[in-house]
Amino acid sequence: MINDTLNRPLGSLRVSVTDRCNLRCRYCMPGQDYVWLPKQSILTFEEITRLVRIFASLGVAKVRLTGGEPLLRHDLSTLTGMISQVPGIRDLAMTTNGVLLAKSVDALRRAGLGRITVSLDTLRPERMRELARTDRHADVLAGITAARQAGFRVKLNTVVMRGVNADELVDLIEFARTQQAEVRFIEYMDVGGATEWTAEQVVSQREMLATLSARYGAITPLPAGHAPAERFRLGDGTTFGIIASTTAPFCRSCDRSRLTADGSWLLCLYAERGIDLREPVRSGASDAELAELIRATWQGRTDRGAEERLELHDRAPLYQVSGLRADPHREMHTRGG
Ligand code: SAM
Repeated sequence: MINDTLNRPLGSLRVSVTDRCNLRCRYCMPGQDYVWLPKQSILTFEEITRLVRIFASLGVAKVRLTGGEPLLRHDLSTLTGMISQVPGIRDLAMTTNGVLLAKSVDALRRAGLGRITVSLDTLRPERMRELARTDRHADVLAGITAARQAGFRVKLNTVVMRGVNADELVDLIEFARTQQAEVRFIEYMDVGGATEWTAEQVVSQREMLATLSARYGAITPLPAGHAPAERFRLGDGTTFGIIASTTAPFCRSCDRSRLTADGSWLLCLYAERGIDLREPVRSGASDAELAELIRATWQGRTDRGAEERLELHDRAPLYQVSGLRADPHREMHTRGG
C-alpha cells in the first residue's frame, strides 16, 4: 500500500472504458457537439488489464468500470472477465445509465462483476426525456430489475438538482426499497460538462436530510468508510447515501484515482490534467517502470480539488464550452464521474 502526501492510500481506481455516451444528461453533456477521443488512442483490453494489474500490485483493490457509458464498449464482459482475474482486485463494480443493462447482466455476472450502480435521476419518464434527452426510461428500470434477478447488489445514483428532481427524494427512497437497492443522492457538481451549473441549483446534504427527516423522522448517520457516500439509516432500517462533493467534500479521505479510456491517469476529478500512461505503455515501458511512475506520482499527490472549489467566493462552472472543446479530457464523460 502506498500513501500520498496527505496519507491517503492508493486504494481504488475508476476505469473509463469509453468516452462515448448514449444519453445527454444536462448536468454532464448539455451540448449537441463533442470532441471525442481518437479511436486509435483508446486502450485495448490487454492494455487496460495490464495497467490494472500494475495498480493492483501497488495496493489498488477496488476497480469500477465507468465511462461515458461503459456498456457501449464492445464486448465489455470480456474485459470484465480479464480484470476480475487480476490478483488483488477484491471489488469489481460498474456504474451505468442502465439503458443497455438488461441484456448484458448475465454475461457480466459470469465474468465476475460484483456490483452495479445504476444512475437514476427520476422516476418520471417525461422528466428523463427533458433531463437526459432519452425515451429509454423503461429500459433503465428493466435493467435494474434484471440486475437484481441476476443476483447483483444494486445501488442507484441520483444527481439532485433544484427545480429538476429535488421533489423526488422520498419517491426514490421508496422505489429503492422495492428493489432492495440503496439510493445515493449526489450533490450537483460544477465539474466537466456541467457548464450550466449554478450554486442555486445545488441541493445540499443538509437540505436533503431535512427533507427526508420531515417525512421519515430521525435519521441516523452510519460509520464512515473510504466510500465517497456518507450513509444514513431511517427508523425502519432503510439505508441511503449522500455524496456531498459540492458542499462537504471528502478530499481528506479520497483514495480514488481515474484512468480515462485513452490512458490518462487523473489524481482528482477536478485535476486540470492527467498523467499519460498510454505513451509509456505503447513505447515499451516495463511493468516495473510503470509501477515506479505510478508510485512516485501518487506519493507526491497533494490534490484537494473539491475543497479548493469550496473555498471560492463566487463559484461558477469550472469550464466553459470553449475550454472543454480545447481538451476533451476535461469532460466528466471522459473522466468517468
Ligand atoms: N454513463 C454512466 C452513468 O450514467 O452512470 C457512467 C458515467 S457517469 C459520468 C458517472 C456518474 O457521474 C453518474 O452517476 C452521473 O450522474 C455522475 N455525474 C455526471 N455529471 C455530474 C455532475 N455535474 N454532478 C454530479 N454528478 C455527476
